[in-house]
Amino acid sequence: MSDIHDVLIIGSGPAGLTAAIYCARASLSPLVLEGEPSSTSDQPGGQLMLTTEVENFPGFPEGVMGPDLMMRFREQAQRFGAETRFEKVSRVDLSIRPFQVWVGDPDAAEPTYRAHSLIVATGAQSLMLGLDRERELLGHGVSTCATCDGFFFRGHTVAVVGGGDSAVEEATFLTKFADKVVLIHRRDELRASKIMQDRAFANPKLEMLWNHEVVEVEGDTKLSGVKVRNTQSGEVTDLAVTGLFVAIGHRPNTDLFRGQLALDDEGYLVTGPGTATDVAGVFAAGDVQDHTYKQAITAAGSGCMAALDAEKWLEANVHV
Ligand code: NAP
Repeated sequence: MSDIHDVLIIGSGPAGLTAAIYCARASLSPLVLEGEPSSTSDQPGGQLMLTTEVENFPGFPEGVMGPDLMMRFREQAQRFGAETRFEKVSRVDLSIRPFQVWVGDPDAAEPTYRAHSLIVATGAQSLMLGLDRERELLGHGVSTCATCDGFFFRGHTVAVVGGGDSAVEEATFLTKFADKVVLIHRRDELRASKIMQDRAFANPKLEMLWNHEVVEVEGDTKLSGVKVRNTQSGEVTDLAVTGLFVAIGHRPNTDLFRGQLALDDEGYLVTGPGTATDVAGVFAAGDVQDHTYKQAITAAGSGCMAALDAEKWLEANVHV
């Protein structure tokens, strides 16, 4: 039975790698399946790999580049014996103990790995508009996180896309920094809650651009503006902004677990108490189970919790 891992961690963002640091220091020899570098949606290292400067991660008073921060997480996990592999999980079977995990051909008769406990830290993706250059300019004017990047736009004119609570909340937050915030919505009414709408409409720095959609993102190395189309007349005009915040929703990376772990209405893993899922021995951490906070530091915190929960569970159920 020596090929059975005590803890297998799926995902290598702040949650997965923090779980790996704690599991490794508890002598659980965790294996981290990091994902594949070629993947654009759930890349190894998580969403911080798509950002530039991170100024709100405690312990880095001068700020740190997102990818550098993730390299440090990874090195720290490896230093204590965590094994990390650039492999993407294609299937799991959580109905069998030890749990079974496939990499590559999901129809292969034998699983690639077996593990007594799993920590799921597969993260979430910000939905994007799907425009050319949008991803290239992420971290260079295009952002999916006002909390993370708003500070860089002091005195600028920025736009936010979307009409839900996220967009209205982000637009309102950005007025603390930007001189002007244009909220671009494809319809003529918001989906956001009434109280947030009222707050937004009363904000003199926030301007609504109804019935418009962004059709082009412009700029060579950083964003210089966007083209917007009136959804009713079809007219295309230029909007000079240096920041574009895309706030059209998130999608948790939970396809692998559909039908095996409890998901809520929006597809996030349901956890509790602590980081436990509804399958004993399977724990979840980070954005894959977090609707609300979605920060690197909160993901790291829940990764620590998942490691402690897994360690305790292994002591009570496997290492008895
Ligand atoms: P959401 O409610 O799904 O809203 C997404 C918005 O983006 C909608 O207005 C939608 O337009 C627009 N949209 C979607 N695809 C688009 C596209 N391709 N191009 C342009 N616009 C597009 O997502 P969310 O705002 O992220 O909120 C998700 C959940 O979290 C909601 O339940 C929300 O209430 C909650 N939340 C709560 C708070 C809070 O209470 N403080 C803060 C944030 C989020 P249409 O309206 O035309 O469909």
